[in-house]
Amino acid sequence: MFDVAVVGGGPAGLSAALFTEKNGLDTVVFDTDETWMHHAHLFNYLGVRSISGSEFMEVARGQVDDRGVTRKQGEEVTSVEQDGDGFVVSTEDDDYETDYVVLATGDDSDLAEELGCEFKDDETVAVDVTMETSVEDAYATGAMVRNGEYEAVISAGDGGAAGLNILSKEKGEHFHDFDTPDDVPTLADETVEDED
Ligand SMILES: Cc1cc2nc3c(=O)[nH]c(=O)nc-3n(C[C@H](O)[C@H](O)[C@H](O)COP(=O)(O)OP(=O)(O)OC[C@H]3O[C@@H](n4cnc5c(N)ncnc54)[C@H](O)[C@@H]3O)c2cc1C
Repeated sequence: MFDVAVVGGGPAGLSAALFTEKNGLDTVVFDTDETWMHHAHLFNYLGVRSISGSEFMEVARGQVDDRGVTRKQGEEVTSVEQDGDGFVVSTEDDDYETDYVVLATGDDSDLAEELGCEFKDDETVAVDVTMETSVEDAYATGAMVRNGEYEAVISAGDGGAAGLNILSKEKGEHFHDFDTPDDVPTLADETVEDED
């Protein structure tokens, strides 16, 4: 049983997982590693001057691992179904119960369609700025919600918005993930340094 299941571990999915796990929600990410980032080199991600997409992914995966996200690398999600107040996320290995699901599968919207999410006329999944779909507690992010404008920083923003909205629901008020310099010792202590 997880609080949050994220399907897809590109910038959108890992960003959502970072926010939720960092703030106390037990989060799992399933990813088949076909992210477009492996074809990219970023010069347009604000705050990062130049980085290969694959290196970006290595840093991002380390970052979510540091915070304690359960990362099921290589495990493909075959279905997501509503189950009472939550969802069951299925793979060939197992079925996983979760309260919230974040779809972050790039431009592949098949799972959103199977789940019964509403689509817009342009065939993108219908969401508002919170990234919640027409199915309560199911979120969609990245290329599946955008008609052609889906750079990495935008996907990461979508994931963060989904994560924050889930946190706001759970905490019962608008939630902010604001760290200050005083938080550095605690969070840095939890950071696993590369061994070499
Ligand atoms: C050639 C090229 C160059 C690019 N250059 C830039 C650039 O310079 N700057 C920039 O900002 N962006 C660039 N991009 C775009 C950038 O890569 C995307 O915007 C970004 O990867 C989108 O992130 P995402 O998380 O939405 O989706 P993705 O990165 O596509 O991640 C989706 C993930 O979900 C996984 N997945 C899918 N289905 C399942 C399933 N059923 N179960 C489990 N996992 C699943 C996939 O394997 C994948 O890892 C480029 C893209 C390409 C192709």
